[in-house]
Amino acid sequence: VSTVRYLVADLTWVGDRFTPGIAVGVDAAGRIAAVVPDGEVAAEVPRERLRGRALLPGMVSAHSHAFQRALRGRGEQFPATLGSFWTWRGEMYALVGRLDGPEVERLSTAAFREMLRAGITCVGEFHYLHHEADRLDWSLDERVLAAARAAGIRIALLETYYRTGAIGEALQGAQRRFESIGPAAFWQQWERLDQELDTGTQSLGVAVHSLRAASLEDLREIHAESRRRQLQLHIHVEEQRREIDEANAVYGHSPIELLLETLRGAEGVAAIHCTHTKPRDLARFLGAGGNVVLCPLTEANLGDGLPELPSAPGHDGRLSLGTDSNTRISMLEEMRWLEYGQRLRRESRGVLRNPGGDTAAYLLDTATAGGGRALGLPVGAILPGYWADFAVVDLGAPALAESEPDTLAAALVFGAGDDAIAGTYVGGIWRASNDD
Ligand SMILES: [Zn+2]
Repeated sequence: VSTVRYLVADLTWVGDRFTPGIAVGVDAAGRIAAVVPDGEVAAEVPRERLRGRALLPGMVSAHSHAFQRALRGRGEQFPATLGSFWTWRGEMYALVGRLDGPEVERLSTAAFREMLRAGITCVGEFHYLHHEADRLDWSLDERVLAAARAAGIRIALLETYYRTGAIGEALQGAQRRFESIGPAAFWQQWERLDQELDTGTQSLGVAVHSLRAASLEDLREIHAESRRRQLQLHIHVEEQRREIDEANAVYGHSPIELLLETLRGAEGVAAIHCTHTKPRDLARFLGAGGNVVLCPLTEANLGDGLPELPSAPGHDGRLSLGTDSNTRISMLEEMRWLEYGQRLRRESRGVLRNPGGDTAAYLLDTATAGGGRALGLPVGAILPGYWADFAVVDLGAPALAESEPDTLAAALVFGAGDDAIAGTYVGGIWRASNDD
């Protein structure tokens, strides 16, 4: 008796287009076992027919700080003077000062549930809020894993190293709740957490918060160990001009130059933001095998700036998207604003596009497979061996009326909201429905 069951939607995203009549086989472990024309599956094998639905790979938020969901709607008043990333950071630190374990878990669960409803089936949680109080208890690591379990989302917990408050300076105030005391203790905690995962939906990754938060020696050591374990190392890079000025003042080099030199390349590195990275440095980083995670809605909300991206297809598959501060959780919006930012900057259209010239397909790939690559997980594509994580599109959604199979992707990316997402599957299990 086969334990593979089949899902057949009206349309399925295969490669770079929606295709009718595809049967997706899902095995008992929650992985995709087959992607075949429906006619090739024996007639007596039962199918789950998803009528009026299209199947997309589940979207991947490759960069999130779930607890920051608490700041939504706050810190948006500016009576005295202009705000900035740094005034926002002050508010975020104040939040950190008042959160306890149960609240971190509650906020994270809410953020993850909201992600599922937006078609996000996998989150790379860049987790640096480790300790419940000033002591090094690491208790909040488990809180975030418990939240992911409760919500039913797939999580790559990016356990984050954070040792200095600014380059060469001690941690201060709320930052003490982020503290790592050194690479050896960091990997000890990593090993301990690794034993506690639900392996069907949870994995552990690694991050160094930024070049503000670690010495070059520690960065080099953690990267070497990450490579040994075949993990991507995530790190915030050049989100703010001040960060570049500070690195230049201390080291005589920008953060991206320091990364490329310290790590002798960019293999196994996922750089978050690169908002102010010089185009030449960005091309070098991507060319050396680096991944870049962009967070357009957060970068807009924080007033970070607009990155100057090389026009695709020069960096195929190396970009991905994250919901970051979770001020707004919508991958459809992240996708369109990734391209819109570049359109506004260049006064051109179709800046990001695949080799066939298709912008929507490129953006969908960035929001799915790109995230899988940044996290080093088999997610983000409907292919045998990948996790059976899907976003289900409601073809009856008003925003999609008049679209046809070959215009559906662009209608979705440029014209629809998350009410066009009917729900999601994670590991072959139906997890969220927007009809509830
Ligand atoms: Zn971040």
